[in-house]
Amino acid sequence: MRFGAHLSAAGGLLPAIGRAEEIGAEVIQVHTQSPRVWRPNDYPREVLEAFADRVRSHPRISETVCHASYLINLGGNDPVLLAKSRTTLVTNLAVATGMGASSLVLHLGSHLGSGFAARLAAVAAELNSALDAAEDRLGGPCCRLLMENTAGAGGTIGRDVSELAQVLDAAGGDDRLGVCLDTQHLFAAGTAFETLDEADAVVSALARSIGLDRLGCVHVNDSKVPLGSGRDRHENLGEGLLGRTALGALLGHPALQGLPAVLEVPGVEGKGPGAADLAVARAIHAAGRRRWRARERRAGPSAGLATLPPPPAPRPAPGGRTGSRRDRGPAGSPSRRGR
Ligand SMILES: [Zn+2]
Ligand SMILES: [Zn+2]
Repeated sequence: MRFGAHLSAAGGLLPAIGRAEEIGAEVIQVHTQSPRVWRPNDYPREVLEAFADRVRSHPRISETVCHASYLINLGGNDPVLLAKSRTTLVTNLAVATGMGASSLVLHLGSHLGSGFAARLAAVAAELNSALDAAEDRLGGPCCRLLMENTAGAGGTIGRDVSELAQVLDAAGGDDRLGVCLDTQHLFAAGTAFETLDEADAVVSALARSIGLDRLGCVHVNDSKVPLGSGRDRHENLGEGLLGRTALGALLGHPALQGLPAVLEVPGVEGKGPGAADLAVARAIHAAGRRRWRARERRAGPSAGLATLPPPPAPRPAPGGRTGSRRDRGPAGSPSRRGR
């Protein structure tokens, strides 16, 4: 597992690489634009290419993950807001791809009371068309779009693995789509993973309904709020109600090793995740791996994912669609990094 942090891109994208170096991050996450205003950052092509080159040749930083604007809501039915969301998502995808990111993490938004089922098909169609539009703009493949699980408040879409799986199915299993699992959101939405069995149940559910190849990133956050509280409130690792044991149980799971793990915590100095926070994350991960290895010694290599049936058959795509229109292999594909 490679650890990194959400970093400020204030003052430009390239300074974020320096911030990552200072704190010893192996993964960089940045917003593709200022997250709370609609105006997109119009980075010159040279800046995007310079960022991609520097990360590609970096001895320690192995991957960039981008985070889309928080204003995007694919779940509503206000045509003005939907049009703005659509444009912003396409721009965010193009910027993320241009800077060599492996993926763009997206909060799908809220159905604002109309109900998950009522908006499911529309959300899925927006995802397909945003990816198509981004590829048209780029003239080639774009990075993966990762749907993040939510803490469950306010009609948010993606409050559990099952909802994310339904969106993916409704989008025809588009192979440009994946998921990002946030530990605080998972806990706030009511899933406990204190024990290795509970952590394995989370990973097994994801493997069964979505497929672990779709899991592109883990957001590693502790929680200021209790299990099932439905609220999105991140805390420093080990200082919240989620705690080291549960975080270690999940991060140490054998099937999750190799993934980028991104901290989005307030930071021990209140300035965002720093070197001390990454040290805590790595220690929690190491402790979790020790627990899993001890279990493997007792139970054999099938210690994890014990309940996993064979992977599902390929999904039929609506309208003959079989996922991407183009062959995959975006410029920033993590597969090239041999992870
Ligand atoms: Zn997150
Ligand atoms: Zn959050």
